[in-house]
Amino acid sequence: TERTFSILKPDATERNLTGAVNAVIEEAGLRIVAQRRIRMSDAQAKKFYEIHAERPFYGELVAFMTSGPVVVQVLEGENAVAKYREVMGATNPAQAAEGTIRQKFAKSVGENTVHGSDSLDNAALEIKQFFDESDIV
Ligand code: ATP
Ligand code: MG
Repeated sequence: TERTFSILKPDATERNLTGAVNAVIEEAGLRIVAQRRIRMSDAQAKKFYEIHAERPFYGELVAFMTSGPVVVQVLEGENAVAKYREVMGATNPAQAAEGTIRQKFAKSVGENTVHGSDSLDNAALEIKQFFDESDIV
């Protein structure tokens, strides 16, 4: 069993979709083992997305992620990293498969409702940025 890190982005909290997104997560067999609603600071968002620092959309991405509350989560399950990437769907909602979170809810490539770790190593690093081990149950 694996853990992955998830964020319900500001477009999700803004439209009151946290329960609807969590329903898709749980129906896929992933367990929400830690969850907190926070307002990300500019420094937190910049650090979280520092791998994208040279990309043209970095400024826009950091501005969006700090524009409203987000829900940070740890998800647990069999092949959780790959499973959650599948459940999220493609980054661009226009290319996201039927039934995926982004196909159902995302507004655009930027405002795409959820984040999920892209590898087991990144999952561990991302979880550590937001949760203490003792808060994951
Ligand atoms: P995430 O990392 O959020 O789970 P992802 O792995 O599918 O999404 P990445 O390539 O890691 O996609 O990009 C990180 C985030 O940056 C995307 O989720 C999206 O919000 C934003 N982003 C990516 N490409 C663009 C773009 N062309 N224009 C605006 N924002 C973008
Ligand atoms: Mg990514």
